[in-house]
Amino acid sequence: MRDQRYDILFEPMDIGPVTAKNRFYQVPHCNGGGYRDPSAAAEMRGIKAEGGWGVIFTEQCEMHHTSEITPFIELRLWEDKDIPMLRRMSEKMKTHGALAGIQLAYSGINGPNLYSKEVPLAVSAMPIRTFTNDPVQARALDKTEIRDLRRWFVNAAKRSKDAGFDLICLYGAHGFGIFQHFLSRATNQRSDEYGGSLENRARFVREVISDMRDAVGDTMALTLRVSLDETIGDLGFSNAEVRDFIEMNRDLPDLWDLAQGTWEDCSGPSRFKEEAAQEQLVRGIHELTDKPIVGVGRFTSPDVMTKMIRTGTLDFIGCARPSIADPFLPKKIEEGRIEDIRECIGCNICITGDMTMSISRCTQNPTFMEEWRKGWHPERMNSKGASSNVLVVGAGPAGLEATRALSERGYDVALAEAGTMLGGRVARERLLPGLSAWGRVVDYREYQISQKPNVETYFDSALDADAILEFGFENICVATGATWRRDGVSRQHVVPFPIDAAMPVFTPDDIMAGKKPTGNVVIYDDDHYYMGGVLAELLAQEGCNVTIITPSAYLSDWTVNTLEQHAIHQKLARMGVNIVLNRGVVEIGNGHVVSNCTYTDITQQFGCDAVVMVASRQETNGLYFDLKAREADWADAGIKSVKIIGDANAPGPIAWATYAGHRYAREVDGEDIGDDLPFRREITQLAAE
Ligand code: ADP
Ligand code: SF4
Repeated sequence: MRDQRYDILFEPMDIGPVTAKNRFYQVPHCNGGGYRDPSAAAEMRGIKAEGGWGVIFTEQCEMHHTSEITPFIELRLWEDKDIPMLRRMSEKMKTHGALAGIQLAYSGINGPNLYSKEVPLAVSAMPIRTFTNDPVQARALDKTEIRDLRRWFVNAAKRSKDAGFDLICLYGAHGFGIFQHFLSRATNQRSDEYGGSLENRARFVREVISDMRDAVGDTMALTLRVSLDETIGDLGFSNAEVRDFIEMNRDLPDLWDLAQGTWEDCSGPSRFKEEAAQEQLVRGIHELTDKPIVGVGRFTSPDVMTKMIRTGTLDFIGCARPSIADPFLPKKIEEGRIEDIRECIGCNICITGDMTMSISRCTQNPTFMEEWRKGWHPERMNSKGASSNVLVVGAGPAGLEATRALSERGYDVALAEAGTMLGGRVARERLLPGLSAWGRVVDYREYQISQKPNVETYFDSALDADAILEFGFENICVATGATWRRDGVSRQHVVPFPIDAAMPVFTPDDIMAGKKPTGNVVIYDDDHYYMGGVLAELLAQEGCNVTIITPSAYLSDWTVNTLEQHAIHQKLARMGVNIVLNRGVVEIGNGHVVSNCTYTDITQQFGCDAVVMVASRQETNGLYFDLKAREADWADAGIKSVKIIGDANAPGPIAWATYAGHRYAREVDGEDIGDDLPFRREITQLAAE
């Protein structure tokens, strides 16, 4: 039964001519699948419908071929041929009474047109603004082309209606959509009636909304997504100007969709942004308009959501990541199952799927984007197979997820952990600066497992092959994790390099276990994800004089994909950490390291009292190979299968471990598929030559 405090979240509300059944609004979000994996993307949205969302949106949909953002894979609505793909998505969205929304994007100054090869058209002529500094400039739209663009929006609106959508969101946020480019003086330097005063800069969006209302407004709601602050000072579309704009155009769209600032702000990781981080920017806007407002803020707490609505800050609770981590979030609140919510940890691994043009995954929800490809449902496991029990060795994220999911399937599970707590690496990493929310990976699973009568957990149980052969479990899942290497082997060095025994060398495991360097510390980061930067922050906080050396051109290089590289560099630079880029370490001496330039190989010494080696990790796979060596004894011991998963198999981010645990649980007692592909896939239909 639902707690009455949350009733307000379930009140219907009109958005123009349509009515949302509740206040749960899945704002547009990418998924790395887009037009390449349309059925996978559609099924993912359909699962959210089942999970109780009132409004569900697509990712951004390129509405005309003269503006596209290749290599990123979103949706396309360039011609009628694209309609069936989008209709599949809208139909899935509408299955449980949700409204289906499509976000139309014309990327303007943000679209390099690498695929269509069209000359980019923008509000003003200037270089294309992308992550990758593409060497392409855009031409300014002339008046005829502005009329063309208005017509293209109308065409896209009609196609959206044909494709079955209830709402259209016009994208003007994050610096990505042309509406923002018109509104901001940074990207609008026109001297005609579309530039200059705010009234002029707002002309284009007013015209487009009016045109679209005439075409489809009787049945479809039109929403406008703008950023609450462009965050580039007075030149940009500042929060004050956003408020002026909304006040001057009170009733322009049927709903205001207010995103935070840049995409990096709006999807800020938990390391840098709290839940409801945009509250100050959005507070009071409600008084300027009669139309409903949706805003985001990585909302996972129903109390915070309720507060947002009660205080009149928002009308709809906008969620992207929380809806990925738990597509059933609304349903769980409705059913009074708050403790079952799988809260987003704010790691932004989901975004890396888009940034790397692969397909997204989620640390908390391993079924994300596998709903169609593998038939994985986030709340339902496949039924139990022939055997009855499993021994899971190791209680890190891989072992915990395997245990949780196996118990859901109905297996008796014994979880053996060498240490005294659950969580493995996450239990340690959650104590590092900025990573406390990551602990939700453990908390969710620990609670779920505690509710299961068919799971027994054993601590202080470092198992070896002899013990396991004696126990008599049918299936053995080895999830024993990995440890950080001390010898520096990673990418620069594929074999160990000279290290003077007199120099204290620490690994991340040492530091997380409480062994800390002091004085002048060099961190050698050849891992390139978060660990090097996080340890630099920790040691600087604790008074060390920190130099971080990395062979990459960027600090914490891979975090470009989690949208936090800039914030990491900024924070460490402000803390006084000496950031040394494009340099490796070739020797560790007594009292110094020898660093080489990655381009010239010219060396230079950095004096230090200790070195922290953030290199690669070594699999803890001894137990697995001991068991393999005794395969002949398995049958007598009653063992049917032995598998190794997670970091013990091959170290990776936490999301890789939860995925491995989930997959293991799905596949125990599974059919042997031989050489078949283990997932479904769509391939482009060939044209008739
Ligand atoms: P993953 O990310 O793959 O889940 P972790 O390193 O986070 O890996 O967790 C592995 C867990 O396995 C740790 O908690 C560790 O204490 C435990 N472990 C390692 N070897 C054994 C063993 N032989 N028996 C029981 N537990 C083990
Ligand atoms: Fe949240 Fe991380 Fe999942 Fe993205 S990948 S939804 S940030 S838990």
